[in-house]
Amino acid sequence: MVRLAGVTKEYPGGVAALRGVDLDVGEGELLAIVGPSGSGKSTLLHIVGTLDRPTAGTVEIAGHDVATLSDRSLSALRARRIGFVFQAFHLVPGVSARDNVAEGLLYSGLPRAARRARAAEALDRVGLADRMRHRPHELSGGQKQRVAIARAVVGEPDLLLADEPTGALDSASGEAVIELLHGLNSEGATIAVITHDAQIADRLPRQVRIRDGQVVGDVRDVRDVRAT
Ligand code: ADP
Ligand code: ADP
Repeated sequence: MVRLAGVTKEYPGGVAALRGVDLDVGEGELLAIVGPSGSGKSTLLHIVGTLDRPTAGTVEIAGHDVATLSDRSLSALRARRIGFVFQAFHLVPGVSARDNVAEGLLYSGLPRAARRARAAEALDRVGLADRMRHRPHELSGGQKQRVAIARAVVGEPDLLLADEPTGALDSASGEAVIELLHGLNSEGATIAVITHDAQIADRLPRQVRIRDGQVVGDVRDVRDVRAT
C-alpha cells in the first residue's frame, strides 16, 4: 500500500526532517509511527499522504510512484484513496455532524442525497447515529473525533492517516478512538497513527519508531495474529 525508499526531506533553511527513511506498509496493516516531538513524524505523514514531496528517495502509494504524477493527479489520488484525521478535528463549525461527514464525499461525484445517506451510515458505524444533527459545539471531544473519523472513512479510502488523533482527548475518549480504529482495521482499512504517546503505540500491532528523521525501530506485536 505504501512503499518509501531512501526518503529524505529537507526544509528550506536546511533542516533535514527525514533522512533516508525506508518503510513498507501492507494492505490491512494498523501501525503506530512513534517518536518524540520534532523527530519527523508529521513530515513523514505529509509525505505518505502526498501533501508534500520528498527532497530525495521514492514514494509509492497504492502502486503509484508519486514522482511521476502531476500535482493535479496527486490531488485526485489523495481525494479518492487517502483519509486524514488530525488532533484538532478540523470540523466545519455550525454544520451538522452528518453534513461534516458528507464533506468527505465532496469529490466522489455522488449526488447530495447519496452523500448524506452515506454520511448517516458512517456516523452509525462510529456509534453516533443519535448525533446526526448535532453541530460540533454540541459534541464532546471524543464525539468530535469520531465525526472526523467518519468523514475520513466515508469514501472508503485505501489508507487512513491519523496525526495524534487522541492528543486532545481525555484517556477514556482516546481509548474509544483507538478501539474504533481497531474496528475499522478489522474491516480491512489500512491505518497509520502518529503518536508521541508510548501507551497509545503499545495498543497497536506494529510500531515504527522515528528519531531524528530516521527509522530506529520497527516492531510487530507477536501476540497479534493479524500481523503474521
Ligand atoms: P514531529 O511531527 O515528530 O514533531 P516534524 O515532522 O513536525 O516532527 O518536524 C521535524 C523537524 O522538521 C523539526 O526539526 C521541525 O522543526 C522541522 N520542520 C517541520 N516543518 C518544517 C517547515 N515547514 N519548515 C522548516 N522546518 C520544519
Ligand atoms: P464529555 O464529558 O464526554 O466531554 P459532555 O459532557 O461534553 O461529554 O457531553 C455529554 C453529552 O451531552 C454528549 O453526548 C454531547 O453530545 C451532549 N452535549 C454536550 N454539549 C452539548 C450542547 N451544547 N448541546 C447539546 N448537546 C450537548
